Amino acid sequence: VDYIFIGEADSTMPELVASLESGNKCPDLPGVLANHQGAFTGDSRLNLIKNLDQLPLLELDSFYDLSNYYPPIHVRGRKIINVASTRGCPYQCSFCAAAEVNGRNIRKMGVIRFVDQIQLYVEKGYDSITIYDDTFTIDKNRAVEISKEIINRKLNIAWNCFSRVDCVDYDTLSAMYEAGCYLIMFGCESLNDTTLKKLRKGFNANQCLQGIEIAKRAGLIVSSSFMIGLPGENKNDILNTIRQANNSDLDLAMYPIFEPYPGTPIYQDCQQEGHWVRNKYKNDLMVEQDTTWVPNDVTREDLTELSRYAHRSFYLRPRFIRSFWNIFKELPWERKYRFINAGLDYFLLSKLTRHRAFNKGARFH
Ligand code: SF4
Repeated sequence: VDYIFIGEADSTMPELVASLESGNKCPDLPGVLANHQGAFTGDSRLNLIKNLDQLPLLELDSFYDLSNYYPPIHVRGRKIINVASTRGCPYQCSFCAAAEVNGRNIRKMGVIRFVDQIQLYVEKGYDSITIYDDTFTIDKNRAVEISKEIINRKLNIAWNCFSRVDCVDYDTLSAMYEAGCYLIMFGCESLNDTTLKKLRKGFNANQCLQGIEIAKRAGLIVSSSFMIGLPGENKNDILNTIRQANNSDLDLAMYPIFEPYPGTPIYQDCQQEGHWVRNKYKNDLMVEQDTTWVPNDVTREDLTELSRYAHRSFYLRPRFIRSFWNIFKELPWERKYRFINAGLDYFLLSKLTRHRAFNKGARFH
């Protein structure tokens, strides 16, 4: 690694390139660190773009061959791309590193500028967009304005977005649905109030279930992630979340195993409350795709088995199987095939081939 950008590199990247071309390898740029024989020096302040409207419209497909990248299997459409209308998140969830990257102050793109971006991609033949804002409905009026602008311009686009259960209401989500939004993704993370407090999510389990119900009533496919192995949770707490999610209005649920990120408040708690599976993971997160840290009272094998159990119990429910067609029928054939393949692999084949290191007593039926 020769350079590190702290925060957003939209303006500093071209400045660095210009500087390198003129022979200066160590320009003094905000948020840019240069490698001097293994030590990184420079201005380490978080560099953020103040006015997102000043950025040119993005054409990501001029840099990357997007056909090399697969969207999640439940994302609709044949030609798919990601956009963002805000940067930064004012919430303080204790496990989340978003503020370390994009800051706490939310910066919003103008409605017209953002819809111009969507229109550009529609004109290029894209029929599906994921809006990668941390919380697209953080400003509900703005979400409605964007939806109205998409409708006014008759943009035929299917889209999905991320939000929080305490940032939605029926009217806003209905307006989004009318404008082509078909899927909303929440990060409830747990359905235990004590854990939610510890995570500083700012909402409780009841609000989670209400937000999910509102989104469902507005016509959206509703998805949420729940982290397995959070600090302070034992098997019963995890099973309680799984049970409540199974009984909720959710259409899709993800159960990743929790990883503490350095720099987040919860990382400190994790030094005391549990143990690292291997020391190297402390600095190698998201690389191994494996359990990195285990809370007290459960084992690494328990976490793996609980995550598998959670997915099995959610996706093999008669209720999911009945509603599955609504999600499945909208997918192009190649993604239908991947959906089936991934399901078979996860639920059947991997059972035969996966490592047998699990605690044989760890069954949660
Ligand atoms: S989890 Fe979401 S809402 Fe919470 S701080 Fe991170 S980005 Fe913000």
